Order: sequence, then C-alpha cells, then structure tokens
Amino acid sequence: MAAEQLNQSECNRSRVMRFLYNNGVSSRAQIAKSLGLTPAAITKITAKLIDEGLISETGEIEGARNRRSIGLRLDPERFHFIGVKFARSLIQVGLFDLAGNAQRIWVDMTADHPSIGDAITSLKTLIGQIMARFSTVVAIGMAVPGPYLRDCGHTAVVSSMQQWRDVNFPAEFADAFAVPVFIEQDARAGALAQQLFGDDGARDDLAYYLIGEGVGLGVVERGRTIDGARGTATEIGHVSIDVNGRRCDCGNYGCLERYCSAVAIHKALDEDGGIVADSDTMTHIEACEALFALAADGDARALELVRHIGTYVGYGLITIINAFNPRRIIIGDIVSHAGEPLLASAMRVVDDRVLPELAATTSVTLSDLPTDAAVTGAAAVAITAFLEQPSRFADIARRRRGD
Ligand SMILES: [Zn+2]
Repeated sequence: MAAEQLNQSECNRSRVMRFLYNNGVSSRAQIAKSLGLTPAAITKITAKLIDEGLISETGEIEGARNRRSIGLRLDPERFHFIGVKFARSLIQVGLFDLAGNAQRIWVDMTADHPSIGDAITSLKTLIGQIMARFSTVVAIGMAVPGPYLRDCGHTAVVSSMQQWRDVNFPAEFADAFAVPVFIEQDARAGALAQQLFGDDGARDDLAYYLIGEGVGLGVVERGRTIDGARGTATEIGHVSIDVNGRRCDCGNYGCLERYCSAVAIHKALDEDGGIVADSDTMTHIEACEALFALAADGDARALELVRHIGTYVGYGLITIINAFNPRRIIIGDIVSHAGEPLLASAMRVVDDRVLPELAATTSVTLSDLPTDAAVTGAAAVAITAFLEQPSRFADIARRRRGD
C-alpha cells in the first residue's frame, strides 16, 4: 500500500479510536455518522481494529429508531502506559491504563542520589522492572520542566535544577526500552491530560496553567497543542509581569515564575520566618502544603499570603486570556491546592483588568484530576501517541506478548 494511503487509513483508524475513547460503547452506524464515513469504510476500519485487538464487540445496544445493533468498545485495561514526571526535587513514575487510571505510583527523591547520572540509572532500573512485570505496557510518556527545546532534547532553563540542563532526554531514554518513549514539556502534558481525562466541557479548546515548582502553560486549540517552532511556545512562567522586577535565570526580569511558583512561595516563607515554623527545613511542596493548611484553618497571615499569591496567579490569567482566548483555563499542580481563597483572589484581578466580554466567557477552575495529575500528564503524552497511531501500538503489543 502506498505510504499516503497507509497514512490515510491509520488516520481513520485513529479517528475511530478517539471517538470510542471519548464516547464509550457505540455502534458502527453512530461512529460512521459522526465521522462522516461510509458504512463500507467503517466496516473495513473496525474489522482491522478488532483483528488487531484494539477494540472489541459488546452485546447488542439500542440504536437509532429502536433498531438494535452490535456495540463496539475500547478495553481500557488491555493496554498500559508508564508516565514519568521530572520535577526539580523528585521523579514520579506511574503505571496507567488507557483511561488514565493510575494503577500504582512510585516516587524517587532526586536528592537521595549522589548525582543526576545515578538518578537516571535508578529510574531506568525501575522502568525495566515495571516493564518486565507488565507485558501490557506499550509506551512511555515523560513530562519535563519547560522550556523544553524539542529539537535538541534539552530543557533550557530550569531554575534551581541546573544539573538537569546537561541531560539530553531523547539520547538518554528514546532507545532505552522495548517500547517508544515520548517526551513533552510538563504543562503541555498536563493540557493533554485535561483533554483526555478531564470532565466533559470543551475538551478541544483549553489551557492548563501549571503552578508547581515552576510555572508553565499548555494550550490545546482545536484539539491540538500549540507548540511553537522549537517546542517552547506558551511559556507563561517567563512572561514578565514587572519589567524592572526580579532577575530570572532565563535573562528576563520580573518573570511570573519568580512571584507565584512553589519555589517563590517557599522563599517568601523563609524570608518572613514565622508564618510556617521551620519552613527552611522543608521541601518546596511541604512548605506550600503547610501554608495552605494554615490558611484553610483561618490563620490570618497565612490567608493574606495566599491571597497575595492569588493576585499574581491572576496576572498570569490576564496574559493567558489576552494571548490565547481559551474557552477554559484549568489551574493545576502544587499551588492549586491552595483552593478557593487563591482562585477568588485571582478572579478579582481578572474581573478588574480583562475585557468584560472575555472575562464573562472564560471558565477558570482548579484541576479536578487527582493530586498526581502531573504524572498523569506524562501518561497522557503516551496515550495521545497511542490514539494517533493505533496500528503501530497493536504491533508493539503483539511483540511484547510474544505472539
Ligand atoms: Zn524567566
């Protein structure tokens, strides 16, 4: 078959997989109608997908005009994916099914290893063990802090994580395992997770605003992520909110990341000394969680600091709305755990400074994915690749099973 024809066939198989992924059990007629395919085409496509073990027939379901027809479904437990999230202080590894349900999560503190090289060796051993135990693993997704230069495989600026800049991620991992590895900037991975696993509203037109140890943004527009020429588009963390402000490692001044990331919050707590006792002995995550717990208990100073951080989160929202006009913005990662007081403070800034027509039509929420959403995003990168090229992964699954 000509390459172009093959691509067209794989594209149609991918569309059918996506449809079943988003809509659950459906009949051939329902799929054909929604995707504008002829009955003959849908019969051929689904026959191949069934043959490859990617979908299966269920019993009869109620169709149009009360006609009964055979349902088709994806089996989420048939294929598994490993998600790896690299953060400044830790590496999280998760085993996921096709629906994004975490089967198990492992956490490795980077500081426990004498060097980055040792951390990488330990990670490879762990992944090798998981793959040996689960022959259903067909792909690995990795989420790395941005800006991630996709063409040369390096993260460009990782404040307080300089050693990672020397790591070439594709060179380290691309051929390290028996299955393909996909690497993506962490916030864009988070956006893919929201698109695949989030609630049903506007899946194909959203922004994921990651506020963790760094600040990042992933934008999905018309179903596709906005990537930029070298893969570093939508880096909201390095947009200046104060041109004469704090110097950033990226070379700019007053970058958003310097004011509302978990690292910036931790620094503020250490400098203040008193809101959170012994904050200087804590990790960034622990310091933030301690602050948010105090605020939730009504501690006035903690609440004031959370609201202050919320205003900076709001300045970021203004830029996101003006630059990308997404239908929905989902705030996720560590700082989103501050909850309603932070969101309310951010929204006051938005209502005050954004065109009313835009403010009224942009939904801003906190992520509804579990606390391990970051590693879920890494898995989403692999699952997105799986849904784009189903036959490629059917081959991999067969090889892994040994038939
Ligand atoms: Zn910067």
